[in-house]
Amino acid sequence: NREIQLVKRPETVPTHEHLSITDAELPKPQEGELSVELLYVSVDPYMRGRMNNTKSYVAPFQLNEPISGGVVAQVKESKAEPFTTGDIVTGSIPWREKTVISADSVRKVDPTLGSVTTSLGILGMPGLTAYFGLIDIGKPKEGETLVVSGAAGAVGSTVVQIGKIFGCRVVGIAGSDEKTSYLTNELGADAAINYKTQNVAAALQDACPSGVDIYFDNVGGEIADRVYPLLNKFARITQCGAIASYNVPNDQGPRIQMHLIKSSATIKGFVVGDYQVRYKEGFDHLSKWLKDGKLTYEETIHEGFENIPDAFFGLFKGSNTGKQLVKIADP
Ligand code: NDP
Repeated sequence: NREIQLVKRPETVPTHEHLSITDAELPKPQEGELSVELLYVSVDPYMRGRMNNTKSYVAPFQLNEPISGGVVAQVKESKAEPFTTGDIVTGSIPWREKTVISADSVRKVDPTLGSVTTSLGILGMPGLTAYFGLIDIGKPKEGETLVVSGAAGAVGSTVVQIGKIFGCRVVGIAGSDEKTSYLTNELGADAAINYKTQNVAAALQDACPSGVDIYFDNVGGEIADRVYPLLNKFARITQCGAIASYNVPNDQGPRIQMHLIKSSATIKGFVVGDYQVRYKEGFDHLSKWLKDGKLTYEETIHEGFENIPDAFFGLFKGSNTGKQLVKIADP
């Protein structure tokens, strides 16, 4: 039985020196506990923040302790109602092949809603982030221009499609030609920009002739600097992520305030957990759109517990399209 521990805190880009695969014990479950085996592990950009020893909305990972994150797992032994052997569950639990957890830390996955992996992607945390971030903060209206950075990722690819459902002109920004054609050909984006090969400022000018009404920002940094000058009066910015600076030790500091003032724009930070009381609403909409074929999703799935670190590192190199997952075992 193996687990993945944080053994050193990264100062910049995380590598193998920071994570170690270690033997783990497997206790017997006690009352209220489940013995589970991981089926899928979700690697997520926010986990990079938890590797720093700084105060944030979630506690930092502890050194020489297993990393915890979103997984799909199968119950092998249950000492807690209503779970039974064979149930597929999801929750945030340690990266340990087989483990004993409190039954409160997971919920059952309904396999009739589609692949169980959707509970880590479009019908899980990334999907809900896209839904609430766009609808509640972005407030999309027909005919408005929505720019999405990190557009081919788990959150971004869902935002692009919800933007189209609301009748927006959607412009996606991503890091490869495969991703930009995925955005326009498969997700229905009106235009897509490869920020690694194109002049982003010029390409945005072309793609947003009427300016930008909503900027769903997953990235921050220089891409955000290129979008702000195009903000229309009363534009809304969903500041969802800032992955461009997650591996930068000393943030360059504020770069956006003047543009916010000039455009009377609203920028609102949020974490998906703020919407916990409305998860059902989000979930119901996402599942209906998925069922009706209005939403689609992509997954990049690596195989093997030992490949979890590389899957995580890949997030910072753009190796994934859609949700990055690691398959550990078959049910
Ligand atoms: P993604 O599936 O989008 O994976 C990360 C992607 O970010 C990569 O594929 C890569 O795509 C892009 N990227 C990596 N480094 C850079 C960089 N330096 N500059 C520009 N793009 C980069 O992850 P998620 O969809 O899970 O998350 C997207 C964002 O949303 C993250 O910033 C995350 O932290 C945030 N988030 C926030 C939540 C909240 O509650 N506020 C909840 C969930 C996510 P490319 O090839 O295009 O470079």
